[in-house]
Amino acid sequence: MSWESTAIYYRLINQGVKARLGGHHSAKIVLYSVDFAEIERLQATDRWDEAGQLLANAAQSLERAGAEFIVLCTNTMHNVASSIESAVSIPLVHIADPTAQAIQAAKVKTVGLLGTKFTMEKDFYTGRLRSKHGLNVLVPNESQREQVHRVIYDELVHGVVREDSRRTFLGVIEELRVQGAQAVIFGCTEITMLVTADILAIPSFDTTALHANAAVELSLV
Ligand code: GLU
Repeated sequence: MSWESTAIYYRLINQGVKARLGGHHSAKIVLYSVDFAEIERLQATDRWDEAGQLLANAAQSLERAGAEFIVLCTNTMHNVASSIESAVSIPLVHIADPTAQAIQAAKVKTVGLLGTKFTMEKDFYTGRLRSKHGLNVLVPNESQREQVHRVIYDELVHGVVREDSRRTFLGVIEELRVQGAQAVIFGCTEITMLVTADILAIPSFDTTALHANAAVELSLV
Protein backbone atom coordinates (compact mmCIF):
# COMPACT_ATOMS: atom_id res chain seq x y z
CA MET A 1 0.00 0.00 0.00
CA SER A 2 2.92 2.41 0.46
CA TRP A 3 4.01 3.72 -2.93
CA GLU A 4 7.53 2.57 -2.07
CA SER A 5 6.58 -1.08 -2.51
CA THR A 6 4.05 -0.34 -5.26
CA ALA A 7 6.99 1.03 -7.26
CA ILE A 8 8.93 -2.20 -6.68
CA TYR A 9 5.94 -4.27 -7.86
CA TYR A 10 5.56 -2.08 -10.94
CA ARG A 11 9.20 -2.55 -11.88
CA LEU A 12 9.25 -6.31 -11.15
CA ILE A 13 6.07 -7.03 -13.12
CA ASN A 14 7.28 -5.07 -16.12
CA GLN A 15 10.71 -6.69 -15.94
CA GLY A 16 9.10 -10.12 -15.64
CA VAL A 17 6.91 -9.64 -18.71
CA LYS A 18 9.84 -8.30 -20.69
CA ALA A 19 11.98 -11.27 -19.62
CA ARG A 20 9.26 -13.64 -20.82
CA LEU A 21 8.21 -11.90 -24.05
CA GLY A 22 11.36 -9.96 -24.98
CA GLY A 23 11.56 -7.03 -27.39
CA HIS A 24 9.68 -3.94 -26.31
CA HIS A 25 7.10 -5.86 -24.31
CA SER A 26 5.88 -4.56 -20.96
CA ALA A 27 2.94 -5.38 -18.70
CA LYS A 28 -0.58 -4.07 -19.20
CA ILE A 29 -1.42 -2.85 -15.69
CA VAL A 30 -4.39 -1.00 -14.28
CA LEU A 31 -3.01 0.56 -11.10
CA TYR A 32 -5.16 1.88 -8.26
CA SER A 33 -2.71 3.72 -6.03
CA VAL A 34 -4.14 4.64 -2.62
CA ASP A 35 -3.33 7.41 -0.16
CA PHE A 36 -1.50 5.32 2.42
CA ALA A 37 -2.34 7.82 5.20
CA GLU A 38 -6.00 6.82 4.89
CA ILE A 39 -5.14 3.13 5.07
CA GLU A 40 -2.69 3.53 7.95
CA ARG A 41 -5.28 5.46 10.01
CA LEU A 42 -7.87 2.72 9.55
CA GLN A 43 -5.33 0.03 10.50
CA ALA A 44 -4.10 1.87 13.59
CA THR A 45 -7.65 2.50 14.83
CA ASP A 46 -8.80 -1.06 14.14
CA ARG A 47 -11.39 0.02 11.53
CA TRP A 48 -10.92 -2.99 9.29
CA ASP A 49 -14.49 -2.97 7.97
CA GLU A 50 -14.02 0.55 6.60
CA ALA A 51 -10.66 -0.42 5.14
CA GLY A 52 -12.30 -3.40 3.49
CA GLN A 53 -14.98 -1.19 1.98
CA LEU A 54 -12.38 1.27 0.71
CA LEU A 55 -10.41 -1.50 -1.00
CA ALA A 56 -13.56 -3.20 -2.28
CA ASN A 57 -14.46 0.07 -4.04
CA ALA A 58 -10.93 0.29 -5.45
CA ALA A 59 -11.17 -3.30 -6.69
CA GLN A 60 -14.47 -2.55 -8.43
CA SER A 61 -12.77 0.37 -10.20
CA LEU A 62 -10.07 -2.01 -11.41
CA GLU A 63 -12.64 -4.49 -12.67
CA ARG A 64 -14.55 -1.75 -14.50
CA ALA A 65 -11.25 -0.61 -16.05
CA GLY A 66 -10.73 -4.05 -17.53
CA ALA A 67 -8.50 -5.87 -15.03
CA GLU A 68 -8.76 -9.67 -15.33
CA PHE A 69 -7.34 -10.36 -11.86
CA ILE A 70 -6.17 -8.37 -8.84
CA VAL A 71 -2.95 -8.29 -6.84
CA LEU A 72 -3.20 -6.40 -3.55
CA CYS A 73 0.35 -5.11 -3.05
CA THR A 74 0.58 -5.58 0.71
CA ASN A 75 0.49 -8.51 3.08
CA THR A 76 -1.29 -6.64 5.86
CA MET A 77 -4.37 -5.64 3.92
CA HIS A 78 -5.07 -9.25 3.02
CA ASN A 79 -6.79 -9.09 6.39
CA VAL A 80 -9.71 -7.74 4.32
CA ALA A 81 -9.23 -10.06 1.33
CA SER A 82 -12.75 -11.46 1.69
CA SER A 83 -14.31 -7.96 1.40
CA ILE A 84 -12.50 -7.50 -1.89
CA GLU A 85 -13.33 -10.98 -3.16
CA SER A 86 -17.02 -10.56 -2.51
CA ALA A 87 -17.13 -7.16 -4.28
CA VAL A 88 -15.76 -8.30 -7.65
CA SER A 89 -16.13 -11.22 -10.03
CA ILE A 90 -12.42 -11.37 -10.99
CA PRO A 91 -9.95 -13.37 -8.84
CA LEU A 92 -7.72 -11.92 -6.12
CA VAL A 93 -4.27 -13.55 -6.15
CA HIS A 94 -3.69 -14.01 -2.40
CA ILE A 95 -0.10 -13.06 -1.53
CA ALA A 96 0.32 -15.98 0.88
CA ASP A 97 -0.37 -18.59 -1.82
CA PRO A 98 2.57 -18.09 -4.24
CA THR A 99 4.73 -17.58 -1.15
CA ALA A 100 3.66 -20.90 0.36
CA GLN A 101 4.06 -22.69 -2.98
CA ALA A 102 7.69 -21.48 -3.23
CA ILE A 103 8.37 -22.59 0.34
CA GLN A 104 6.93 -26.04 -0.34
CA ALA A 105 8.92 -26.34 -3.57
CA ALA A 106 12.07 -25.70 -1.51
CA LYS A 107 10.99 -28.51 0.86
CA VAL A 108 10.93 -26.13 3.83
CA LYS A 109 8.48 -27.11 6.59
CA THR A 110 9.21 -24.59 9.36
CA VAL A 111 9.42 -20.95 8.42
CA GLY A 112 9.85 -17.67 10.32
CA LEU A 113 7.58 -14.75 9.48
CA LEU A 114 8.42 -11.05 9.56
CA GLY A 115 5.81 -8.42 8.81
CA THR A 116 3.62 -5.86 10.49
CA LYS A 117 2.15 -6.76 13.87
CA PHE A 118 -1.15 -7.33 12.09
CA THR A 119 0.43 -9.89 9.76
CA MET A 120 2.44 -11.62 12.49
CA GLU A 121 -0.34 -11.66 15.08
CA LYS A 122 -3.69 -11.98 13.31
CA ASP A 123 -4.91 -15.30 11.99
CA PHE A 124 -5.59 -14.23 8.38
CA TYR A 125 -1.96 -14.83 7.39
CA THR A 126 -0.37 -17.40 9.72
CA GLY A 127 -3.66 -19.32 9.71
CA ARG A 128 -3.66 -19.56 5.93
CA LEU A 129 -0.01 -20.71 5.86
CA ARG A 130 -0.73 -23.32 8.52
CA SER A 131 -4.12 -24.69 7.57
CA LYS A 132 -4.20 -24.26 3.80
CA HIS A 133 -0.52 -24.97 3.14
CA GLY A 134 0.53 -27.12 6.11
CA LEU A 135 3.52 -24.99 7.14
CA ASN A 136 4.90 -24.54 10.66
CA VAL A 137 5.12 -20.78 11.19
CA LEU A 138 7.29 -19.09 13.84
CA VAL A 139 6.92 -15.42 14.69
CA PRO A 140 9.31 -13.23 16.73
CA ASN A 141 8.62 -12.51 20.40
CA GLU A 142 6.51 -9.51 21.39
CA SER A 143 9.27 -6.92 21.77
CA GLN A 144 10.83 -8.02 18.48
CA ARG A 145 7.45 -7.78 16.76
CA GLU A 146 7.19 -4.20 18.06
CA GLN A 147 10.63 -3.39 16.66
CA VAL A 148 9.93 -4.90 13.23
CA HIS A 149 6.55 -3.14 13.06
CA ARG A 150 8.10 0.21 14.04
CA VAL A 151 10.82 -0.04 11.38
CA ILE A 152 8.18 -0.76 8.73
CA TYR A 153 5.91 2.17 9.64
CA ASP A 154 8.51 4.75 10.75
CA GLU A 155 11.16 4.00 8.15
CA LEU A 156 10.51 1.63 5.24
CA VAL A 157 7.15 3.00 4.07
CA HIS A 158 8.87 6.41 3.96
CA GLY A 159 11.74 5.00 1.90
CA VAL A 160 14.18 5.23 4.82
CA VAL A 161 16.73 2.39 5.02
CA ARG A 162 18.94 2.40 8.13
CA GLU A 163 21.92 0.21 8.95
CA ASP A 164 20.93 -0.17 12.61
CA SER A 165 17.48 -1.39 11.56
CA ARG A 166 19.08 -3.88 9.19
CA ARG A 167 21.09 -5.22 12.13
CA THR A 168 17.90 -5.44 14.20
CA PHE A 169 16.21 -7.51 11.49
CA LEU A 170 19.26 -9.77 11.16
CA GLY A 171 19.16 -10.38 14.93
CA VAL A 172 15.46 -11.24 14.82
CA ILE A 173 15.99 -13.63 11.89
CA GLU A 174 18.93 -15.27 13.68
CA GLU A 175 16.75 -15.91 16.72
CA LEU A 176 14.05 -17.47 14.54
CA ARG A 177 16.73 -19.69 12.98
CA VAL A 178 17.90 -20.82 16.44
CA GLN A 179 14.27 -21.67 17.29
CA GLY A 180 14.07 -23.94 14.25
CA ALA A 181 13.13 -21.77 11.29
CA GLN A 182 14.64 -23.24 8.14
CA ALA A 183 13.83 -20.08 6.19
CA VAL A 184 12.23 -16.67 6.66
CA ILE A 185 9.32 -14.99 4.92
CA PHE A 186 9.63 -11.29 4.15
CA GLY A 187 5.94 -10.93 4.93
CA CYS A 188 5.84 -7.22 4.33
CA THR A 189 6.29 -5.80 0.88
CA GLU A 190 8.87 -3.20 1.96
CA ILE A 191 11.28 -5.56 3.78
CA THR A 192 13.11 -6.28 0.54
CA MET A 193 14.37 -2.68 0.69
CA LEU A 194 16.21 -3.44 3.96
CA VAL A 195 17.24 -7.11 3.89
CA THR A 196 18.41 -9.22 0.97
CA ALA A 197 19.05 -12.94 0.65
CA ASP A 198 22.83 -12.58 0.32
CA ILE A 199 23.27 -11.34 3.91
CA LEU A 200 21.23 -14.10 5.57
CA ALA A 201 22.24 -17.44 7.04
CA ILE A 202 18.96 -19.08 5.96
CA PRO A 203 16.92 -18.87 2.73
CA SER A 204 14.38 -16.09 2.43
CA PHE A 205 11.05 -15.88 0.64
CA ASP A 206 10.24 -12.35 -0.47
CA THR A 207 6.49 -11.91 -0.82
CA THR A 208 6.93 -8.89 -3.11
CA ALA A 209 8.96 -10.81 -5.67
CA LEU A 210 6.88 -13.98 -5.42
CA HIS A 211 3.57 -12.14 -5.69
CA ALA A 212 4.81 -10.01 -8.61
CA ASN A 213 6.03 -13.16 -10.34
CA ALA A 214 2.63 -14.82 -9.84
CA ALA A 215 1.04 -11.79 -11.51
CA VAL A 216 3.44 -12.08 -14.44
CA GLU A 217 2.70 -15.78 -14.88
CA LEU A 218 -1.06 -15.32 -14.67
CA SER A 219 -1.01 -12.42 -17.12
CA LEU A 220 0.70 -14.60 -19.71
CA VAL A 221 -1.67 -17.57 -19.49
N1 GLU B 1 3.26 -3.13 2.83
C1 GLU B 1 3.25 -3.70 4.13
C2 GLU B 1 2.77 -5.13 4.09
O1 GLU B 1 3.10 -5.84 3.17
C3 GLU B 1 2.78 -2.91 5.27
C4 GLU B 1 2.16 -1.58 4.98
C5 GLU B 1 0.75 -1.80 4.57
O2 GLU B 1 -0.11 -1.83 5.40
O3 GLU B 1 0.49 -1.97 3.40
O4 GLU B 1 2.12 -5.61 4.98
